[in-house]
Amino acid sequence: MYGKFQDHLSQQLAEIEEAGLFKNERIITTAQDAEIKVSTGDHVLNFCANNYLGLSNHPRLVDAAKRALDSHGYGMSSVRFICGTQDLHKTLERKIAEFFGTEDTILYAACFDANGGVFEPLLTEEDAIISDALNHASIIDGVRLCKAKRYRYENANMEDLEAKLIESQAQRFRIIVTDGVFSMDGNVAPMDKIHELANKYNALVMVDECHSAGVVGATGRGVTELFNLKGEIDIITGTLGKAFGGAIGGFTTGRKEIIEMLRQRSRPYLFSNSIPPVVVNAGIEMFDMMSETTELQDKLHSNTKYFIGKMKEAGFDIKPTESAICAVMLYDAKLSQDVAAKLLEEGIYVIGFYFPVVPREQARIRVQLSAAHEKEHLDKCIAAFSKVGKELGVIK
Ligand SMILES: *Cc1c(COP(=O)(O)O)cnc(C)c1O
Repeated sequence: MYGKFQDHLSQQLAEIEEAGLFKNERIITTAQDAEIKVSTGDHVLNFCANNYLGLSNHPRLVDAAKRALDSHGYGMSSVRFICGTQDLHKTLERKIAEFFGTEDTILYAACFDANGGVFEPLLTEEDAIISDALNHASIIDGVRLCKAKRYRYENANMEDLEAKLIESQAQRFRIIVTDGVFSMDGNVAPMDKIHELANKYNALVMVDECHSAGVVGATGRGVTELFNLKGEIDIITGTLGKAFGGAIGGFTTGRKEIIEMLRQRSRPYLFSNSIPPVVVNAGIEMFDMMSETTELQDKLHSNTKYFIGKMKEAGFDIKPTESAICAVMLYDAKLSQDVAAKLLEEGIYVIGFYFPVVPREQARIRVQLSAAHEKEHLDKCIAAFSKVGKELGVIK
């Protein structure tokens, strides 16, 4: 039987390859960090990880993980509501709620699961979800699993959001859903205006803080801090897989009845394994660090400001950003790949993105800054960009 199906897949794979869209993995042979070694033996500076606070290989988190291995073992072998809840899980959930100023939290294996399991338990065909066009794939999938009516507004476009709120007035409950930071441009959702419109039209609000938590806001509390909306947003989802240590794990935090209902009905929570104590204890340590000092956030913010300032000075076209994502616009798809390849030769690891990941003629290199970067790393990256940029005619 497999033969015909195999031919079909082989042909599709060949098409992906021909279109230049084939995804290859680059193998890293060290821990995740600012400086990494790849399997070709090269040492490179990493500017494409979501390791915003430089916590992926932080000694305090590594140590907390080791301690948990001794005190709480390796695996849970259960979902949360059967026998997969340790004291550590409850502590971490409380720490997340304290961090965001919310009432309660539920952990998931990943934010993909948090977003996949948030809509269906809460909303029915009588309700409506009003979603930003650039929201993450996991939100799109979560919306698909729910029977609520769907509306989509243009990215961060408040006139369009208002039009959709007017259009959907017949629905019983409505929820506006947005990413906090959009991953390809680094722009921040206008939460102040979204909150205002939600009040005006009696809608709930959900924000996905995956790229904003730990990064945005003076103390890294995310977009609710940036817009002074602590406790005002009904649902926040986020990940432990980016700024917060980079291992794995997701969460939904917000109003207590909402979280309680998710514990009763959210399918990825009910039918998927608990996150292991190693990860949970490192998460607890991480939130303790966050409450002791804003050193890492401060360093990230100053790194970002320095890098963007110097890149603009060098003549690069940088998308307006309020996060640690810096989109260096090249517009041409092939050019984005050539620049990335040449930067790698210079020891700078970045990725060029082009259609369909970003709109046509909007190809770019996405640079992600980190608190793990030292000034010499940033200077080396800027110098490499300048050299390659001149060679390829991007800058003069
Ligand atoms: C990365 C990301 C996710 C997925 O998070 P995981 O914990 O890796 O599953 C969800 N939403 C947004 C906006 C993200 O950037």
